[in-house]
Amino acid sequence: MTRLLEAWKLIEAFSKGDLDPVDHAMEVYDRVQRYDREYNAYVSLESIDVVLEQAVESRKRYREGRQRRLEGLIIGVKDNISTNFLPTTAASRMLDGYVPPFNATVVERIIREGGIVIGKTNLDEFAMGSTTELSAFFPTRNPWDPGRVPGGSSGGSAAALAYGGSDLALGSDTGGSARAPAAYTATVGLKPTYGLVSRYGLIPYANSLEQIAPMARSVRDVALLLEVIAGFDPKDATTLNVERIEVSGEVPEDPGKVSICVIPELLEGAEKPIVSAFNKLVGKLEAEGSRVMEAKLPAARYALPAYYTIAFSEAASNLARYDGVLYKARGDSGVWEEYVSQARRKGFGEEVRRRILMGTFALSEGYREEYYVAATRLRRVIRDEVLSMASRCVIATPAMPVMPPHLGERVKDPIQLYLMDAYTVIANLSGAPALVQPIDFFEGLPIGIQWIGNKLGERELIRLGLLVEEITGIRGVVAVG
Ligand code: GLN
Repeated sequence: MTRLLEAWKLIEAFSKGDLDPVDHAMEVYDRVQRYDREYNAYVSLESIDVVLEQAVESRKRYREGRQRRLEGLIIGVKDNISTNFLPTTAASRMLDGYVPPFNATVVERIIREGGIVIGKTNLDEFAMGSTTELSAFFPTRNPWDPGRVPGGSSGGSAAALAYGGSDLALGSDTGGSARAPAAYTATVGLKPTYGLVSRYGLIPYANSLEQIAPMARSVRDVALLLEVIAGFDPKDATTLNVERIEVSGEVPEDPGKVSICVIPELLEGAEKPIVSAFNKLVGKLEAEGSRVMEAKLPAARYALPAYYTIAFSEAASNLARYDGVLYKARGDSGVWEEYVSQARRKGFGEEVRRRILMGTFALSEGYREEYYVAATRLRRVIRDEVLSMASRCVIATPAMPVMPPHLGERVKDPIQLYLMDAYTVIANLSGAPALVQPIDFFEGLPIGIQWIGNKLGERELIRLGLLVEEITGIRGVVAVG
């Protein structure tokens, strides 16, 4: 297995003068040019000149001892996060070529800390999907097996990490979009506590569920990026009143202090290699002294229907703004209703249209109580169960119920796609943080585990994640030489 230097180690190497940020930027750029033709992680790429110019500035800052927290690191940004220097398309024809007049808060923070944004990464259109096959442009392929999907919807960010085309990446996570791709590419993704990270500049899909999510090739790297992007933002009224968080802790010295809850009922739905990797890892943690308890989460069975009803409803409302006037797609009829409908048919893919229709239905007079309102009630039951358990232990589940599907395999049937999110949506419905990290490989394909924590329990998740890395030795890995 090939390993690359973790981002925090790159910072060390730059600081000591062992590695030159310009050489490093060149090397990562070369990898993108070599591999992206095959894997299609990036939708748009910054020019080599602009990247090198920034790397030269980083080099100077290291020499002068003025380096910032992400100085010289190369970062991929999901293409539903606004940048005023590269188009932001959400992988939709509706926004093809759209360059926002502002940067998302997270992008501002990355730039302010010396991070170099190399390009925008592919996703399922408007982040609606689990495989990155539903991008209006092209599917992204999994570097561990190009015949398979990288997971979604942040599949471009994950694939770039998995072939070494960035040091760190940003994804977004409404129902698992940063964690599914992490599980499928042996990378790490963290869905922060709702409100910990500003969503200002994130093209909205389902506001009450989503967070921008740090992604990387190791737990410590995810912590590094989270520390930079987290914290109160006056531009996002849903951000929590947290100025700064410190998460990049150490491995717990006493694994006996870690309590883990396993929910046997949830394991029943997962494929065999996933269950056995899960049990093996949990067994090892137990042998190291962690407390492992069996528990029940009865409301979890309602998680998928509740999630999809709420997500579609919010999507229907959010996507109403694309009426063919402000954004790219246009109609040609002189009658307003016809014009809008033509523009939206041209601009939106089939899955996006399906979700708008279903969400509109769930919100409509006469059905609202039965669908949308019922789903929000279920959401409360799920949240209460999850948060009460998470106050006692870290909840462990597999990341995904199935191994990475082949391209074309599940995308034909929307229900098959929705079922992939059975474990991940639990965290979004609860507002709780969740970390996915690799624990094993089966026939060359990565397997991930998910840890769900208490609200603002990121530090605990990171520490557990570091302990798991010690046990498995899987960190910093890439799929190609
Ligand atoms: N697969 C889920 C959906 O399609 C989650 C997507 C996401 O997290 N953005 O809604």
